[in-house]
Amino acid sequence: MINRVNDLSPIHLFNIILESLDVPAFICELDHDLRPGPCLALNQAASRWLGFAPAECAALLEGVVSLSLPDLVADLKQDGRATLDLETTNPQGQAQSLDLGCRLLRVHDHRYLFCRPDGETDAKGEWHQPGLSSRILKGLREGVAVSDGQGRVLATNPALARLLGLEPGGGGQEHLEQLLSRFSGVDYAGQVLPVLEDQGFWRGAARNPLGPFPGTLYQISLASLKEDGGGATHHVALFSEQAWDLSTQDQLLHLAHFDPLTGLPNRSLFGERLVSAMAHARRRGLGLAVLFLDLDNFKTINDSLGHSLGDELLKAVARRLQECVRAEDTVARLGGDEFLLLLQDIGNATAAAMAGRRVLNSLAEPFMIERHELFVSVSVGITLFPHDGEDTETLIKNADMAMYRAKDEGKRGLHLYSPALNNEVNRRLLMENNLRKGLTRGEFEVYYQPKVRLNDGQVTGMEALIRWHQPEVGMISPVEFIPLAEESGLILPIGEWVLREACHFTKALHDAGQPDLSVAVNLSTRQLLWQFDLVDMLEATLAESELPPQNLELEVTESVIMRNLEASIATMRRIRELGIRISLDDFGTGYSSLFYLKKLPIDTIKIDRAFVRDLPHNREDVAIIQGIISMARSLNLEVVAEGVETREQLDFLRQSHCHLMQGFLFSQPLPGPAFTGLLERGDRL
Ligand code: C2E
Ligand code: MG
Ligand code: MG
Repeated sequence: MINRVNDLSPIHLFNIILESLDVPAFICELDHDLRPGPCLALNQAASRWLGFAPAECAALLEGVVSLSLPDLVADLKQDGRATLDLETTNPQGQAQSLDLGCRLLRVHDHRYLFCRPDGETDAKGEWHQPGLSSRILKGLREGVAVSDGQGRVLATNPALARLLGLEPGGGGQEHLEQLLSRFSGVDYAGQVLPVLEDQGFWRGAARNPLGPFPGTLYQISLASLKEDGGGATHHVALFSEQAWDLSTQDQLLHLAHFDPLTGLPNRSLFGERLVSAMAHARRRGLGLAVLFLDLDNFKTINDSLGHSLGDELLKAVARRLQECVRAEDTVARLGGDEFLLLLQDIGNATAAAMAGRRVLNSLAEPFMIERHELFVSVSVGITLFPHDGEDTETLIKNADMAMYRAKDEGKRGLHLYSPALNNEVNRRLLMENNLRKGLTRGEFEVYYQPKVRLNDGQVTGMEALIRWHQPEVGMISPVEFIPLAEESGLILPIGEWVLREACHFTKALHDAGQPDLSVAVNLSTRQLLWQFDLVDMLEATLAESELPPQNLELEVTESVIMRNLEASIATMRRIRELGIRISLDDFGTGYSSLFYLKKLPIDTIKIDRAFVRDLPHNREDVAIIQGIISMARSLNLEVVAEGVETREQLDFLRQSHCHLMQGFLFSQPLPGPAFTGLLERGDRL
């Protein structure tokens, strides 16, 4: 008998059994080491004896049980039984004690600790009484149906007949499917069965439009009884009227499916949702993704700042995670600092990586907890259904493995499972992870390349160009990592950092006696089109560095502007209203319509290196350059030639009345101190 009760896995059913006992009894979760975890169910007798509300009792019992470690664990390991002295103080302040006998219950691969009084009031005898279960079933207000492993109904209890409006005694139903079809919206084949087969139980709520009280809402639980290692021999279905207030049972149900700290679904509910999401995805030929998240530095925070702050942080992380997924997705807490995400309708690795990035980016913002500013770093492993697994265990296990790879790769990053398919994506993700770290580890540096006035050879300003010294690889070109930074959204912090560096550097040069120097900073697509606080950020950086706005120039390429002409123009206008100048970078390589030049709120054109390279021999390039320069001059725009490498190119540009040049002929981009040196020496063209 006890084995059967064990098999009625859902806590809901545990609870019914507990309620049938007249003595205080409760059930706690055990982890794989048999260490007790949360109290999942307790009966009213226990709650009465303890003298508190059920939720408080659960916390209290958890505390008492954890106090008796490690004896309890050792005894359970030895013979599956242990004793426990329950010593508490009731709300009136009176001490009370109860000797409990505890035993280990195994349900599927979960383990539970069942505790009830020892000695005279021992309930053990009762459990073994034959016929108890049928007495319980008869007396229950809940409807119960028992079927064989194929779903053919073998027996129903009187309450079920009552609530379905059937003749008492006669089930009259041939199959669970028919029974369930009486409730609106329950899809037995599509929803219920897949979960039941995978998880051993299913739970849902549905209305019964036909019974004696049409429209009543019922909570329905199904559990499979399995033979050791074999398939289901029976299914038990339980129908209970949905109570409108949060009854004890609901609270316990809630406990069984939700994480008490964060209120997120726990692993078991996540598993249920994943099974139905997989069934849904299979029917529609869609994919989905499972993300396994582990905070990298939670232990340090928890140990150094205390557990209550750690708890607050976990709650805040939970809220952020929920904000970055859609309503149909699921965020669950596995325990500790581990979370699971179920993202529906994700078709491929790229889409999954994008979703993963959203998570990383949203957690990258600092958390303010009790006046501490906390930075959380997280490692994320991703699996895709159906590619990386077709059942919950495999998907979660593989996502966990991928998460460990992300940790191996230096934490704070993403890793996709199934290396063969996603090698390229993973290579990019690795670089992206490194980018993210590079930012915090100070691996970036800004170089400055002088811009020189052609008529007098004077350095008038410089372009800020980012450099990345990656410890393992060496110097990586911005041509390689800027597109990735764009894609991952990291360009926003990177761009902001370059701007701040450049402004402070230039202000320092002003203060050192070069008050006319201007600095040019490159703006990327995402910054111009998607950074909604760009203008505010620019204004704040200018204020903080005290650099006059007219000494800052932003370089924007034509291709960026053409992505969304209207929006770009609007933002560029606002930037210019601050007094900042704008130049059109790489002119000639994109759309290059001279017509647009008139419309764009710009001050300068930078002619791309491609047109300068073959000067003055290539007749076409000569014509183009001359055309651009005369057009620009007539529009009152300043012209800069990029990539000037030879004396011949320089002479030609000078004759063509180009204003400024930038190129290796005069200087390569230089680190800050070298650039300062060049100015101090008074180098000229
Ligand atoms: P860009 O804005 O057109 O920058 C000019 C590029 O031409 C620089 O390459 C510079 O080193 C190179 N260059 C200058 N003179 C010569 C020359 O005489 N010969 C040759 N062959 N090359 C010359 P760099 O520094 O590798 O930057 C490449 C691109 O990366 C930049 O093109 C810009 O689009 C982007 N970039 C660099 N730094 C940043 C940044 O901080 N933010 C953003 N968003 N983009 C950046
Ligand atoms: Mg540029
Ligand atoms: Mg350029």
